[in-house]
Amino acid sequence: MRAAVVPAFGAPAQVEDREIPQPGAGQVLVRLEACGLCHTDIHAMNGDWPVKPHLPLVPGHEGVGIIEQLGEGVTTRTVGQRVAMPWLAHACGECRYCVDGRENLCEQQFNNGYGVDGGYSEYMLADARFATPVPDGVSPLDAAPLTCAGVTTYAAIKNAHVTPGETVAVFGIGGLGHLALQYARLVGAKVIAVDVTEEKLALATELGADHVVNAHEVDPVLAIRQLGGADVAVILAVAPSVFHQAFDALNRGGRLVLVSLPADGELTVPVFDTVLKGISIIGSIVGTRQDLAEVFALHAAGRTRVITETRALDDVNESVAEVLAGTVPARLVFTYHTADVVPAEDEATAAR
Ligand code: ZN
Ligand code: ZN
Repeated sequence: MRAAVVPAFGAPAQVEDREIPQPGAGQVLVRLEACGLCHTDIHAMNGDWPVKPHLPLVPGHEGVGIIEQLGEGVTTRTVGQRVAMPWLAHACGECRYCVDGRENLCEQQFNNGYGVDGGYSEYMLADARFATPVPDGVSPLDAAPLTCAGVTTYAAIKNAHVTPGETVAVFGIGGLGHLALQYARLVGAKVIAVDVTEEKLALATELGADHVVNAHEVDPVLAIRQLGGADVAVILAVAPSVFHQAFDALNRGGRLVLVSLPADGELTVPVFDTVLKGISIIGSIVGTRQDLAEVFALHAAGRTRVITETRALDDVNESVAEVLAGTVPARLVFTYHTADVVPAEDEATAAR
């Protein structure tokens, strides 16, 4: 099988041939159809964060594919079933967080494309319990971005307890942002999309944003205040200035939801304003298997749209460069030459 392997932090990924692994007890072997490129993968490849991934690393936590083989003792999945392998590759199932439904906070967790090899590969192993079934009506190409970008922003909107009629400002329209604004609309919020490129703001409008703010051209705090302020600000961008802009744009009772992870991010807020205005600051990390099942169900019901462009795994380093340059409309997805995955118009690109 072919896999994109990162030999050292900061080094380009190398596409190489590897043995197809054998599933151990409780595992499944999945033949991948698609895997999205999340910004977190780039942080993993560079070793940006305090807890380092294992090396050599196969990145990817938006893998979607078909179960080809069951390991010993697996009874809850079947060969031929389509599953998604999100960031949460394994949690202990026993700790207080796992037991009370917050498995994404488990301290014993392993993460796909970080602590264990992920989806930049034609095959991967998965803990059967965490290989989340993808329902009929969700294509593998759409399922891939939903597996991280979707569930992460869905959980962010849930964690902020957004209610109908509130205003949600989404800072950063891209892989995550284009889905965040749709989930905010689904719970009845008005949406203000904030970005620095017109193309992304045009996409936000197309997907239903009520207002757009180009933070390169106008002061976003002033612009959001003129629109009545934000009850919830979801931060999906990494520029340090964004965190203060989002805080300053909040109304009384506002919630600042932190999702993006800048390499060395620090947030200072005025205590006086935070207390007097009753501001909450919420960290939101991915979502649970149940959140992902809900994300897939919403998509199968036609409630969300996923914007993707496909790439071949051979172009992994060029694809990373595209994401870093900000030229990607929403999500890049590697496809693995499966006829039912690759749309006709993208065949030339995928075959490169
Ligand atoms: Zn991700
Ligand atoms: Zn646990």
